Amino acid sequence: MFSATLSQNQAFAFEEIQKYVGKTSNKVQLKVDDGEKGRFLQASCALKAGEVILSERPIFEGNTTGTRSQKVYCEAFLEKQLSPRNSSKGGGLEELPEFEECFHPRSPLIDCIAGVLLCKKRAKSEALEQDTREAAKIQLQKLCSLCRSTAQSEANHRECAEDLWGALRKDFQELTSLEELTYILQILSSNRFGYSEQSMELMFAGSMFEHSCLPNCFLGTWQTKDGEAGTQTYRALRDIKEGEALSIDYLNFPAGYCPAAARAKALQGWGFSCTCPRCVSLPEVERSFVCPACGEPQLCPSHPSSSEMGCLSCGKAPEADYVARCLDREAKLAQAHSRSPVADDDASQAEDEEESLLGFHHHLVFQALWQEAEQGLPEGEDLPAFQQILEALVESISSVCRRKEHPAMLDFYHMAALSTHEDLEVQKKYLAHEHCILQQFYPEEAARQDAEIMALVQGNGPMQATGITQKHALSEMD
Ligand SMILES: [Zn+2]
Ligand SMILES: [Zn+2]
Repeated sequence: MFSATLSQNQAFAFEEIQKYVGKTSNKVQLKVDDGEKGRFLQASCALKAGEVILSERPIFEGNTTGTRSQKVYCEAFLEKQLSPRNSSKGGGLEELPEFEECFHPRSPLIDCIAGVLLCKKRAKSEALEQDTREAAKIQLQKLCSLCRSTAQSEANHRECAEDLWGALRKDFQELTSLEELTYILQILSSNRFGYSEQSMELMFAGSMFEHSCLPNCFLGTWQTKDGEAGTQTYRALRDIKEGEALSIDYLNFPAGYCPAAARAKALQGWGFSCTCPRCVSLPEVERSFVCPACGEPQLCPSHPSSSEMGCLSCGKAPEADYVARCLDREAKLAQAHSRSPVADDDASQAEDEEESLLGFHHHLVFQALWQEAEQGLPEGEDLPAFQQILEALVESISSVCRRKEHPAMLDFYHMAALSTHEDLEVQKKYLAHEHCILQQFYPEEAARQDAEIMALVQGNGPMQATGITQKHALSEMD
C-alpha cells in the first residue's frame, strides 16, 4: 500500500526514469550531464524535420469542466463563481495566469491538483485491485520525478497551498498535508508548459525536453476531432543528427517573441537561465528599429546585451542620438503597453503621429499584430490590411527563428488564403505556402489531405478539380 507523503523520496532513480522514457519512444534517450544542465533528451537516431519524436498521454491533466474538482473540494469552494478573468488572450508574458486568478474549481490547475489527490486515494485504497493501485503509484512516482528544484519560490507556493488546503473536503485533508500540496504546486508550476486557459497537461517524457529559444523540436499535436484526446505529440523542427540534444521552446509564440531580458525573467519560473544563441550571440531582432540610412526596419542591437546597434540590411551603424531616440520611444511604448496590454491606443497613436521608429519585427508591434490576427477575418474592406498583418507576422517569425518556414505560420497562411477568396491567383499562392508548411511539419497530415483531394478529383472528374481542391483544402483546416 502506498502511504507515503509525496516528496523527493518518492521520485524514481535516474535509471528508472530513463527506462520509462525509453518505453515512450525509441527515438530518444534520457541522458544526464554532471554540470548545470542536469538531465536532457537526446536523439538516439537521425531525425527528419516534421518526424514524430514521441507521443504520450499526460500523466495528469486538468480542464475547465472541473470534473475532478467536484470529487475533491468542499461545497463552499465548489459553489464559488468563476472569478472575473483577464479578458485578453495571447499577448505578452505578463498574462500567464497567477494562482489567485486560478483559484476556482473550474481552473485547469485546480482541477489537475484534484486529479493528483484522487490518484493518491486510488493508490491507497485497499478496496481496489492490486494492479490499479500499482498503476496509480507509478503515476505518482512519475510526478515526483518531475520535480526540478524545491528551492524555487517555496514561500509563495506555501501560501497557495494553505488556500488549497482550506478548500479541500475533510477526507482529502486527511489524505494530504500542507507540505505535500506545496510540493505538488511546485512540480506543476515548474512543468506548466502546455498550460492554456482551457486545459493543463502534465507530460512525463515531454517534460524532459530542454528549453531553447531556438529549439530543434516543437509540440506538434495535430488537432483532430476523433483523435485520442489529450495525447501530445512532439516533432522535429529541423533535421536532427543522432546524439543531438533535443529542445523545445517552453514559452512558445507569441510569448516567446519577446526580448531576451523578458524571456530570462519568464524562464526563472523553471529555475534556469537560457544560453541559446538568441539569448547570447544573435542580433536581437525582437527589438528592431527603422534604419535611418536605408529605411529598412532592420536596425537592432548586435546581440541581446549589447548597446551597439547595427542595420542587418545595409550594415551601417546610426548616430548615437538616433539610437537614444529609438530607445526612448521603445521605453515609452513598453510602459504604455504594460499599463494596458490590450487597449494601447495611446501608444500606437503616439507611434503613428510621430516619426515611426519601431520596425515591424519589434516585439511590441508583433504582439499588437498577433492580437489583431487572433480576432479573425475582418469585414471585406479591411481584408487587404489584414493580409499585410499576416504577412508581417510570418516575416517576423521567420526572422526570429532564422528559418523560412515554421509551424507557427500555418494558421496565418490559412487565414491569408481565406481572406483572398476573391483573387484566386493570390489565394493559390497562400494555399501553396500553407501546404508547404504542412508537408514539412505534419507530413502524414499533408499526405492524408492529398489522398482525400485525389479521391475527390477522381470522383468528380478533372474538369472541376481546381475549384474543389482549393475549397476542400480550406475546409480541412477549420
Ligand atoms: Zn534562449
Ligand atoms: Zn540600413
